[in-house]
Order: sequence, then structure tokens, then C-alpha cells
Amino acid sequence: MDRVVNFSAGPSALPLEVLQRAQSELINTHQSGMSVMEMSHRSKTFERILHEAKDRLKKLLNIPDSYKILFLQGGASLQFSMIPLNLLQKDHEAAYLITGSWSKKALAEAKKVGKTRILASSEEDAFRSIPSLTNASVSPATSYIHVTGNNTIEGTRITEVPKFGSVPVVTDLSSSILSEKINVEDYGLIYAGAQKNLGPSGVTLAIIREDLIGQADQEIPTMLDYATHAKANSLYNTPPTFGIYMVGLVLEWIESLGGIEEIEARNHKKASLLYEAIDSSPLFFSPVRERDRSLMNIPFKTENSETDAAFLQWADSQGLVELKGHRSVGGMRASIYNAMPYDGVERLVDAMTKFEQKTN
Ligand code: PMP
Repeated sequence: MDRVVNFSAGPSALPLEVLQRAQSELINTHQSGMSVMEMSHRSKTFERILHEAKDRLKKLLNIPDSYKILFLQGGASLQFSMIPLNLLQKDHEAAYLITGSWSKKALAEAKKVGKTRILASSEEDAFRSIPSLTNASVSPATSYIHVTGNNTIEGTRITEVPKFGSVPVVTDLSSSILSEKINVEDYGLIYAGAQKNLGPSGVTLAIIREDLIGQADQEIPTMLDYATHAKANSLYNTPPTFGIYMVGLVLEWIESLGGIEEIEARNHKKASLLYEAIDSSPLFFSPVRERDRSLMNIPFKTENSETDAAFLQWADSQGLVELKGHRSVGGMRASIYNAMPYDGVERLVDAMTKFEQKTN
């Protein structure tokens, strides 16, 4: 069966090599005589899988020893609650940069826990840009600043980490982790659902500075306490074992390509190809301010929704699938995560050109 070119925003395309490797090891993983799905999370084999995945991530992202790498569950959405429960201190507030639907959801959960403030918002601009922080301020009693590093739905990304003294910055990198180099030390906490650049859904990654662990000044449920998972090396309870195994394979794949630098170069090349096609098109346009454009999620539109629908149908007939934009934005959205090959984007650009000629 031919595989389609899959532009899904998440869960999204995984590298074919990784899927084939998983298939070849599915019923007998690492000569254990059983599938990774069938083995105890406390077995030597699984412990090695977990350890190697962490080790690979640490090297790829250059994570200092002062950070803990946690594999959690509940998706990025549970982090929206865990973050304030663990980090928001009494009589303090948390400051949120509002750049799209996901940061609004993160803020809504924090409000249930304690005091919050909006650092800046681009909602008035329909989230087509990242707001300036020139006039933004935080109160001296701020526990953390929360940002969404890449806005999956709106197609924007933050290129400058907000700096307000020593207030820790928490970033949601669900849709951009491992897509380009980051300086881990710019952040107190980095989190991401796995189902875009890391592996299948069901695993959530958190990279947290050690001094922020165990600081909750209220009683919080054991499973929602970062300290629980940090102390138990992500093995407090049964972790998503198959997902962690898959994350390990994806990390190995990134290493085999040459690491983050190579991935970043490829991502810039893919995104440039598509943005250039959109910007030079007589039919399609990008709704996003140029300097804030995402490398991973690229929305584009025509002037009317019927033409958008006709294009989506035409693209689908060419094996280019999952290009429909989020309902809040409309039009199209091409999610071109790490696993999207350059020729997948070339095929999209080719289909756009042919459609333009067809509708002319
Ligand atoms: N944050 C961002 C930036 C996302 O893209 C998503 C999911 N698309 C989420 C949070 C929610 O993730 P989950 O479904 O893993 O809870």
C-alpha cells in the first residue's frame, strides 16, 4: 500500500524508518523473547530502553545535569494543571503570554489554582502575531512566566524567550520540540506531548530544573507532583512503555541524521520552500505576520472558503492529506514536523501550482 503524504497536526507522521524498525522488533524486542508491550516496566530490558531514551534526549538537547527528564502521562493538557499546582506559590502570581488557543487553555487551568496575570496577548490580532513585550511587566511576586513556544493552530512561534529577572520561564513545546536548537537553561520547565515530533500519543515529556521540583506549598495529589516522578525516575507507576520505546527510536533516528543542527537546517529548507510558494502565489496567502511564522505549522488560505474546499479535495486526490486548517482559523494548514520529508513539501507546492493553473 502506498503511504500518503500526511500533514496532520498531531498525532502526525512518524519517520518511516522508525515505524519499520518498530515493526521488525514488535514481537521480540531486544532479544527478550517478548514485545516491549508485554514486558514489565521494572525489567532490565525496559529500564535500559528508558535510560537510553533519556540519555539520547540529554545529548540532543544539551540538557544540563541540573535538570530532570520526566516521562509523564495526561498529555500537555495535564501540564496546564500540574504547572500551577507545583509552581504557583501562595500570594504570588503566574504570568501568561497569550498567543493562541493553547495558551488560553493553559491560563484557564492556572486560574483555577491561583492568581494569574496576562503578560501580553495577541488575541486582538486574531493571534496572527506574537505580541511585543516592550511594555510588559511582572510583579515582584511572580512564580513563573508561561509561554507557548509554537502555536500549532495559529502557525506562529516565539523566537525570543521573555526575560524578567530570575523568574523561571515555562514553555509548551508540544509542536516544536527538537525542531530547532534551544538553550534549555533559558527555561525552568519545558513540556511537550509526544505525538508530533517525539513519538506516539500517550507520553508527555517534561524537562524541569531541579530547584523547581518539590516546591508545591500546598498538598497536591501524588501523581500530579513532579517530585513523585523525579524521585522514581519516571517509574512511580506503570509508564506508557510502548510510547517511551518509540520516543527512543525517534531520538535514535534524529541522531542518525546528524542531530538537531541537521534537523533544524532541514526544517528551515522545508518551511522556506512552502512560504516562498505561498508568498509568490496569485491565489494563496499566509495569514501570519512574517517574522513570527512557525517552522512546523503553516496555515494558508485563498480569499474564499469554497476555493479552499476545492483545493483540499484536489490535494487529497493527489495523496496529500490532513491539510484542513483548524476550525478556528479555516483554510489550510500544513504541519511539516521533523518526520515530513522535503519531497513531501515539494509535492504540496507542486499541487498548489497545478491548482492555481487549473482555477485560472
Ligand atoms: N499545547 C499545544 C501547543 C498543542 O499543540 C497541543 C495539542 N495539539 C496541546 C497543548 C494539547 O496536547 P495534548 O493533546 O497532549 O493534551
